[in-house]
Amino acid sequence: MSGDITVISGPTAVGKGTVVSALRRACPQVWVSVSATTRPPRPTERDGFHYLFVSDEEFDDLVANDGLLEWATVHGVHRYGTPKAPVLAAAAEGRPVILEIDLQGARQVRERLPEARSVFLSPPSWGALVDRLVGRGTENVEQMERRLATAKVEMAAASEFDHIVVNEQVSQTVEQLIDLLGLATNSETEGQS
Ligand code: 5GP
Repeated sequence: MSGDITVISGPTAVGKGTVVSALRRACPQVWVSVSATTRPPRPTERDGFHYLFVSDEEFDDLVANDGLLEWATVHGVHRYGTPKAPVLAAAAEGRPVILEIDLQGARQVRERLPEARSVFLSPPSWGALVDRLVGRGTENVEQMERRLATAKVEMAAASEFDHIVVNEQVSQTVEQLIDLLGLATNSETEGQS
């Protein structure tokens, strides 16, 4: 039984990380999966919080031991995957679970956990996406081109998802997600004893 699991996907630089952090602040009951990745950490990222940063060998072991709910090579380079046991444990505890993963991973979860809900975060426009990626400044030109090529493919798959949410303003996006997921917010729970 998969409990209440939501996959949030969308192209590079659409703001998935920012949206999920804001959702977590508004709804602390939400449990967000920490993915394993072979990508090296960015300067601001912490191991165990943003990702579990693992070697290629460690990732191979996770796959071989059936430790991942899904995994994919993203942007043609590094592997990313969702550790299975913590997700199932959080869902079994009744926590609303969020998986922030790419299109390939979303498709695998749809196969394995058909009850899971899926949300595609879309940029307001293609130009806005390019601006955000360039403005973020975390990738070199070659990496940006690769990410934009993946983004084109991902944008074309938006209609596969149960819901499409356009991320124009983070606060509005979070409100829409709270509605879609049927979540109680901080302000609603504060008044309850
Ligand atoms: P970034 O390198 O910018 O942190 O993430 C690159 C892409 O990998 C994003 O589209 C993100 O959603 C995706 N991603 C992160 N974790 C996972 C995961 O566990 N599985 C899959 N399939 N994709 C992931």
